[in-house]
Amino acid sequence: MKIHEFQAKEMLRSHGIQVPKGGPATSGEEAVEVARRVGNGPWVIKAQVHAGGRGKAGGILMASSLHEVGEVSSRLLGARLATVQSGPQGHLVKKVLVEEAVQVERELYAGVVVDRSEGRAVLLLSASGGVEIETLAKERPHEIVREFLEPWGELPSFRARRACFALGLDGEVRSQVEKALRGLCSLFHEEDCTLAEINPLAITKEGVVLALDAKINLDDNALFRHPSWFQLRDPEEEDPLEVEARDYGLSYVKMDGTIGCMVNGAGLAMATMDVVLQVGARPANFLDVGGGAREEVVSRAFEILLKDPKVKVILVNIFGGITRGDVLARGIVDAASKLQVHVPIVVRLEGTNAQEGHRILEESGLRIHVAKSMVEAAKLASTLGRN
Ligand code: GDP
Ligand code: MN
Repeated sequence: MKIHEFQAKEMLRSHGIQVPKGGPATSGEEAVEVARRVGNGPWVIKAQVHAGGRGKAGGILMASSLHEVGEVSSRLLGARLATVQSGPQGHLVKKVLVEEAVQVERELYAGVVVDRSEGRAVLLLSASGGVEIETLAKERPHEIVREFLEPWGELPSFRARRACFALGLDGEVRSQVEKALRGLCSLFHEEDCTLAEINPLAITKEGVVLALDAKINLDDNALFRHPSWFQLRDPEEEDPLEVEARDYGLSYVKMDGTIGCMVNGAGLAMATMDVVLQVGARPANFLDVGGGAREEVVSRAFEILLKDPKVKVILVNIFGGITRGDVLARGIVDAASKLQVHVPIVVRLEGTNAQEGHRILEESGLRIHVAKSMVEAAKLASTLGRN
C-alpha cells in the first residue's frame, strides 16, 4: 500500500526525523493559508500523487509570493500529472503539499528495503541524492553504501556511523544524518514498511539535515496491526481492478501481459506465472482465489479478469484438495456460461475428483480446453492468446 508524501513525512516526524515546515491543501485558498502559517516564503508546492519523478514532470514548483502560491496550487490541483513512474495517463492531483523552501547544500539518498537474498532489511545510503536509486544501482553500484538492520529493526550506531564515514560526512552534520538513518530504520520496522525512502535527504546551507521528500510503502499484510492505516489509503490512486478484487476478498495484482490467470493458492499462482513466462508468454495478473473456489468466487474472478481489456485468454489452474474437482468444474462452467465469457478458457484441474471435473468441463459445450499438465496448459493458453 502506497501513501502520499505528506503522510509519509508525518511518519518521519514522529520518528524524530526533521522535515520542512508545511502542510497539505486541496484548494488555492487553503494553500495560501498553509503558506502564511509556514513562514515568509519562498515556498515549494508539491503535487501529491502516488508516483515519483514529479520534479522532472513539473509537479514540484516554487512560489515567492502568497499570490503565486495560490496561482501555482490552483494550476496543479485538478490537473493530471504524468511522470516516468505513472504511465502516460498520469495521476489526478487532488492535494498539494505547501512547504517552506530550503536552501540546499547537498542532497543524499537514504532508503530501507528488504534484501530478499539475505533475508534481512538493508539500509542504502548514497551521496547522489535526487538521482533515482534504480539508475544509480545500474550505472554506479559501488556508490551505494549498504548496512544491514538487526532483526528487531535497529540500525546499531556503529553501522550508522560507518555509513556516514563512507560518504565523508563529519561533525554535527554526521550526527544529524546518523540520527535520521536510525530513525528511518526504526520507522521501517515499527510501521511494517516494504519501502521507506528519503530522496533527497538534504543538508541545508545552515547545516541542518532535512527530509525533502519521502516515499513509504506499507505492507498490506500488516493492516490488522495498524487500524489507523485505513485513513491513509487513497483508493483513487490505486488500480480500480485491484480495489474491486480486494472488496471481494480476492488477492489480485494487475500486470501487463495477455494471459488472465485464475489459480487457487498463492504458491500455485506464483508457479503458474513462472510457467507462463517460461513458455514465452506474459501473465496479465496474479490472482489467488483462495481455497474454497466456489461458483460465486469463480464468477467474481472471471469478471475481474475480463474487465482487463488486455486479457486474450483465461488460464485456470486449480488443485482440488478439500474442494472437490467436480464442484470446481461446475463452478467454472456455471460462471463462464452466466457471464458469457468471450475469450477461450484453458483449464488445468488436478486433485480430488479431477476426472469427474474434466468430464463436466468437456461436456459443457463451452470453449473450455482441458489441459493435462501446467506446462501444456500454459503452452495452449499462449497459442490461443496469440490468435
Ligand atoms: P520527486 O521528483 O517526485 O522525487 O520529488 P522531490 O520531492 O524529490 O522533488 C524533486 C527535487 O526538487 C528534489 O530532488 C530537490 O532537488 C528539489 N526540491 C524539493 N524541495 C525543495 C526545497 O525546499 N528547496 C530546494 N532548493 N529544492 C527542493
Ligand atoms: Mn524525490
